[in-house]
Amino acid sequence: MRCRDPFNWRDKPSIVGRTIPVLKVDHSIAYRYIVCGDRLWARDVHWNGNARRSEYCTMDAKTCPRCKDEMPKREVTFLHVTLLNFPSSDGFLELTPEGANNFFNALEEGEPMRGLQILVQRARKTLKSPILVEVVNRVEDTEPFPQSADPTPTLMRLWRVGN
Ligand SMILES: [Zn+2]
Repeated sequence: MRCRDPFNWRDKPSIVGRTIPVLKVDHSIAYRYIVCGDRLWARDVHWNGNARRSEYCTMDAKTCPRCKDEMPKREVTFLHVTLLNFPSSDGFLELTPEGANNFFNALEEGEPMRGLQILVQRARKTLKSPILVEVVNRVEDTEPFPQSADPTPTLMRLWRVGN
């Protein structure tokens, strides 16, 4: 598995499935999560500064209307996680490429990521500082945690793409 495995939705994306919140890494709190996912999901995302929201990128600069408008773009990676004592409070943790690499490099070769207990925080007390992901433990019985989920339905609704 590669760390960055971009997925695109140029062909009719699926919006079937439950909406799972997107979790941002706070600058003041360290969170301990359990990884539910079995892969990382990397995507380009536009930032609409006027509306102060992220927007859909088709990941094809030739046809994406926002790429054509030169709306700022960045790569984000989503990791499906939940809280140890609250298995139903799952979400897609939004990581920077560096944060995703940080996590990926902490894995042993071929080691499954589902069930890992991770500590996630910012290096400094600002929202722009690097995201640190540290593997602290492994949960052997992953049965109580949500099954690995695809972020597509959540992001489609967030970005109001599809119907
Ligand atoms: Zn675009």
